[in-house]
Amino acid sequence: MQGNMPFQCSKCGKTLEKHECYEHQGKVFCEDCYMDILSPPKACDPWAVHSAQTFLKGKDKLSTLTHLQLNIVNYIKGRGEATIEEMVENLNLTEGELRREFAVLRHMEILKATKKGEKIFYILF
Ligand SMILES: [Zn+2]
Repeated sequence: MQGNMPFQCSKCGKTLEKHECYEHQGKVFCEDCYMDILSPPKACDPWAVHSAQTFLKGKDKLSTLTHLQLNIVNYIKGRGEATIEEMVENLNLTEGELRREFAVLRHMEILKATKKGEKIFYILF
């Protein structure tokens, strides 16, 4: 029913000859846009995918940590586990400071505590 009306790509607005038209879901597209629609790049937003994945792994959160918190996380990461006493000694922090930072890190699901015998070890979440 379009008669001699020029066709127009619904995406980029390019004017099309009838033979240049590609139809998809009731809309007309030029060849380029049609190809775009049919085969969107696999990782159309690799950065978003990447950050979603790292967020799920809890690593993206590290960028929001304070220097002090990072020290604690890196220390534990390096050892696999650490006790408060050990960190007091090696990180030059008081037990109070460590416990306060640890509460934040645990809330962020970066670190957690695990009990081994009588000792509490802090490990990566
Ligand atoms: Zn187009």
